[in-house]
Amino acid sequence: MSDDIRRSPFEHGPEDETLAGLSLEGARRWIDPVLSRGRFFAARRIVAIAMMALFFGLPHLAIGGRPALLVDLANRQLLVFGLTLRPADNVLLMVFGAGVVITVFFVTAVFGRIWCGWTCPQTVYLEFVFRPIETMVEGRPAVRRRRDAGGWTAERAARKASKYLLFALVGASMAATFVAYFVSWDGMVAALAAGDRVVWIAIAGLTALELVDFGFFREQTCTTACPYGRLQSVLVDADTLMVGYDAGRGEPRGRLEAGDGPRTQGDCIDCGRCVHTCPTGIDIRKGLQMECVACTQCIDACDDVMDRIKRPRGLVRYTSQRELATGTRRFARPRLIVYGTILLAVYAAFWFVLLGRPMASVEVLRASNEPFKVLPAGIVATQLRMRFTNHLDRPQTFTVVLDAPAGAELAGGAEPLVLAADEVETLTIAVKTPQEAFADGRAKARFRVESDQGLKVEREYVLLGPYQ
Ligand code: SF4
Ligand code: SF4
Repeated sequence: MSDDIRRSPFEHGPEDETLAGLSLEGARRWIDPVLSRGRFFAARRIVAIAMMALFFGLPHLAIGGRPALLVDLANRQLLVFGLTLRPADNVLLMVFGAGVVITVFFVTAVFGRIWCGWTCPQTVYLEFVFRPIETMVEGRPAVRRRRDAGGWTAERAARKASKYLLFALVGASMAATFVAYFVSWDGMVAALAAGDRVVWIAIAGLTALELVDFGFFREQTCTTACPYGRLQSVLVDADTLMVGYDAGRGEPRGRLEAGDGPRTQGDCIDCGRCVHTCPTGIDIRKGLQMECVACTQCIDACDDVMDRIKRPRGLVRYTSQRELATGTRRFARPRLIVYGTILLAVYAAFWFVLLGRPMASVEVLRASNEPFKVLPAGIVATQLRMRFTNHLDRPQTFTVVLDAPAGAELAGGAEPLVLAADEVETLTIAVKTPQEAFADGRAKARFRVESDQGLKVEREYVLLGPYQ
């Protein structure tokens, strides 16, 4: 990387009306933010540790002997804290998805990009894992820049190799944990031990992606690739919480004057620390920008400056556009009332559907390509499949009775079927029907399915037979 593109964003000057991470020609400009350790950074670090503990810990958490959270693609089921969802629960999944979307709308309208700055994995792992590793191995940004400007040396090569080795180790552990959400932790370990190529390739591919993302792409994921960032302009309003610069207090900006006389300018001493610390390289003093991920680093940087020059903190702070313009705050507004009302309705629908889930699902399916077979003595034999899903958290015993058509009988699959909690089983059922039961080649079969847990459902199925 040339020294020309590896420099502080502040050196480019305010005339650059392009992304801080890109030159006017579209080439990459490397951003090396200077860490600001303040009260928000300390709070974010606690949140980051909690998020990482959650990510790495969840695959080891079991409820009722099964993973607490598992996207079990192989068995087409989703385990969520003791709840098992299957394709038959599509309505519940749709309502849940709608709830997530409306929640994102609501939270963003109130808190702005709080997700991005505090809990997004991109921010959490970049700022609290990968950058600290980089600083530990290669030193602070200024030291790194100086060493990189000196060309390749054995020391520089060794430091770079060590850094990327550590990046790869962390990336591989994240990738393995991610895969465990799909095959369970034990399943992932067993697959690795057995040399399962799919699992090995998945972990290697994800590790490579993380190396590219956290090693090179970095803030560009937020500023150019993330769709959530692009949605901000329609999700926020003048009352949304944001990180903002109080221009009324800060302007006209100007360097600190020598001497003890009263300051004739605003509180901003134009030190540039809020820009140097910004991981997306923007100048918060230009107002709300799409590239701001609300990481609060500029608040910490500026608060420190204000402490030093003995001015009140909060020149850069959590605020809203309305507060900056008028000094007043407003929480209740039409947008929130609409989002809140829809959200309540969606949550109510979710619980309604969840609590109204059937004790079991019973589906009647065709069994083979041969719709029927005519046996001697005018009996029509039909093979069917019946799929049972026990939705209860305890065993359930099912029995099947054929109520119609008259004279028909079950010739297989009539024995009681015992299914464990959440178990699915498909039975092959044979129905023997007198030929006279068919009209125009069809006869309607009616199955009554009962269980020892109180289930009582009927299923109908059109049997095909010979035309009379
Ligand atoms: S850190 Fe504060 S004082 Fe320094 S340039 Fe930024 S806003 Fe102005
Ligand atoms: S402007 Fe401030 S809050 Fe926004 S990304 Fe930059 S440092 Fe973070």
